[in-house]
Formats: sequence, structure tokens, C-alpha cells
Amino acid sequence: MNDHPQNGTHAVEIENLTKTFGDFVAVDNVSITVAKGEIFGFLGPNGAGKSTTIRILCGLLKPTLGRASVNGLDVATKPEEIRQSIGYMSQKFSLYEGLTVEENIDFFSGIYGVAKDKREARKDYALTMASLKDRRGSLTRELSGGWKQRLALGCAILHEPPVVFLDEPTSGVDPIARRAFWDLIYQLSEAGQTVFVTTHYMDEAEYCHRVALMYAGKVIALGPPKQLKDEMSQVCHLLQLDTSDPLETMRALEKLPGILDLAVFGAGLHVTVSEAELAIEAIRKALDERQVQIRRLEAIQPSLEDVFVALIEAEERKPA
Ligand code: ADP
Ligand code: MG
Repeated sequence: MNDHPQNGTHAVEIENLTKTFGDFVAVDNVSITVAKGEIFGFLGPNGAGKSTTIRILCGLLKPTLGRASVNGLDVATKPEEIRQSIGYMSQKFSLYEGLTVEENIDFFSGIYGVAKDKREARKDYALTMASLKDRRGSLTRELSGGWKQRLALGCAILHEPPVVFLDEPTSGVDPIARRAFWDLIYQLSEAGQTVFVTTHYMDEAEYCHRVALMYAGKVIALGPPKQLKDEMSQVCHLLQLDTSDPLETMRALEKLPGILDLAVFGAGLHVTVSEAELAIEAIRKALDERQVQIRRLEAIQPSLEDVFVALIEAEERKPA
């Protein structure tokens, strides 16, 4: 699952990285390279090892085995230099609630050692980027979650880091604020900065140039969203099935051969099958017999969420 590494040209290089806590393996032999300017998405259920990997890359935790470098700096031997050359927004980012927007920016400028003659210009950049100019005097505690996140990102990039790590930056904010936050991520990428971002929102994974899916410490899929969807289409097919009676439909389908998986998706079902034409015929017949009306039954393109659900379920079926 490695991808075309060219030494020295990568923002992030991870090679056979393992992190254990006692007997527990939190990160299990992970290898990933991230190109400069790339938006790299890191996905996986809670406890998969995403934050642990990011903490290692930020020089906050030492690897147990393997190696990793950021901006060409080894995480095990150059943690101080790495911290100067990255932006990091943790899951629980630490803004000072009792300070104003502007005061938080001034404070973090000092922490990150932004040169005195650059501070005004960088503050202006952060306020403009985050659209916080009108709120510069507002107390941070009075901002909504979405605005706080924008401010936290602004504070994390004051020192113009070439690589930015964002650990679940959009969790808990509304979809409109999340969308706006992704516009900021694109701005960073267009300016040549590399963004390494974790999220558990599947729709957000679609915005990334490439994604890795992590499960129980291992990377189980890696590639551009489109490639991962195409790969799934080669091994199985996905049907959208909307009927008058979803419960009865599930009962009927459980007994049919050729059905690999069944998942509730909105008001309908996503049915994973090995062969679409045969399955459609069998489903029609079975539902006809039970007098369930079919409103929609057709093959559809899998979403990234379908791909990830299928991959994780396949992992869960594997014997321990
Ligand atoms: P994610 O960010 O994907 O939700 P984490 O990297 O935070 O996952 O955690 C991965 C696993 O490692 C979890 O089971 C967590 O409990 C465990 N873990 C994380 N940090 C520590 C630690 N300092 N000591 C012991 N276990 C830890
Ligand atoms: Mg985490």
C-alpha cells in the first residue's frame, strides 16, 4: 500500500510506523507518504489510531518502531525543529476563552516566535483568511463553535508552516460552518501548504486529494477517493432499494443468495451484491411474493462511505 515515494519531495513520510502503549498496539506498521500541497485525509472509527499518528508526526510522542519525517525532519531526533515547522490544531484546540480574537492571535504569534516586524501582517492575514475582521474585538467565549474553529486554524498558521495537521477540526459544528472551513483548507493547499486532516465525516473525505482509512491501528485502504470507489466497483455492486416496507424488505433480502451486505441508508437500503442483474431479478421476485412495493431499485455508484463501511465490515468479519 505504498505510493511512489521520491525522497526529499514529500511533506510527510511514514515508514513502518508502530506505536504501542504497554501490550496495546495503537499504530500498527503504517507506511504513508504525503506530497507537498496535498490535502490528505485520515479516516477511521474512534480508537483507530489517527490522533496517535498525528501526535507522533508533530513530535509530541516517540515512535516505538519504524520512522517518520515531516519537512525532511525526523520525528524521533528533531521534534523541536518539527514543532517550529508545522501547524497543529488538536481535537481539543486550546484557545483562551477569556481573551479577544485579536489577543489570542497576538498570544500565539508570541508562542510560535513570529518575527516582531511580521506580526501585524500575519495577524491581518489570519483575520482575513478566517473572515474574523469584524469580530477582532469579540471575546472568544462569545464566538460560536464554527468561528472558534476558524480562529484556531488562523492561530495555528501564524508562523507560515509548510505542513498543517488538523485533528478532527470540524467535529461538532454545523454543515454550513464545516463547508466554510473546507474552503479555508483549500486556500492553504492552493498556497502550497500541505494539510493532513482527520475527520469522521465521510462527505468531507470526498474533498481530500487522497485518503487513508485506518482500522485498529492499520491502514486498510489508501488512495484518491475516486480510485477507492472504482476498486470497490470491480469486486461488487451497489443497489439502491426504496420500498413501501423497509422492515419486511430486510427480512426478505436476508434469505436471498448473492447479497453481500445490507445497510439502511436514509429512508431506503443500500444492498451490496456480487452480480447486479441477477440480484435485481431475485429481489423483485422476493418482494413481489411478499407484496412489498418497490419504489426504486437500481445500481448506483458507491459513495466513499459505502466503500469504508464495506471495508470495515470485512475487517470485522476476519477471525481475530
Ligand atoms: P483515534 O484518534 O483514531 O480515535 P487514538 O489515536 O486517539 O485514536 O487512540 C488509539 C488507541 O490508542 C485507543 O484505543 C486509545 O485508547 C489508545 N491510546 C491513545 N493514547 C494512549 C496512551 N497515552 N496510553 C494508552 N493508550 C492510549
Ligand atoms: Mg482522535
